[in-house]
Amino acid sequence: MRLYCYCKKCKAEIITTKNYSDRGELSMYEGRDIALTCDACYQKDSYHPNDLIAEIRKSVIVVALLVFFITGGAIAFLFFGFYTDHLLSESSAAFLSDSFVFVVLPFVLFGLIIGMEKRKVYLFNVYRIKR
Ligand SMILES: [Zn+2]
Repeated sequence: MRLYCYCKKCKAEIITTKNYSDRGELSMYEGRDIALTCDACYQKDSYHPNDLIAEIRKSVIVVALLVFFITGGAIAFLFFGFYTDHLLSESSAAFLSDSFVFVVLPFVLFGLIIGMEKRKVYLFNVYRIKR
């Protein structure tokens, strides 16, 4: 999970990577004062878990895009093979109406991967601990 907060001194964004599902877990393992150093002004300060905000990791978007292109490419390849084999057959119309499901599959997978990450980010951000 990618977390960020704003530097207390210069307001620059401080980015850190932690693998906790919510702020309760974060404070349980790292305490109520999380020491972070600003990359812009090198000021080391402690931040409350509520100050840290989760955001979607870029790597997840990359993975989702890869899955999209791989499944999309595989389906396009299969379709191309089917077309060249069955171009003149009568069953191709029926096949095409049934196979609409496969055309939307890359979009569904892409949405699922992004959706899962969005949900994790949402669950982290919605849960605040007592100060
Ligand atoms: Zn700073």
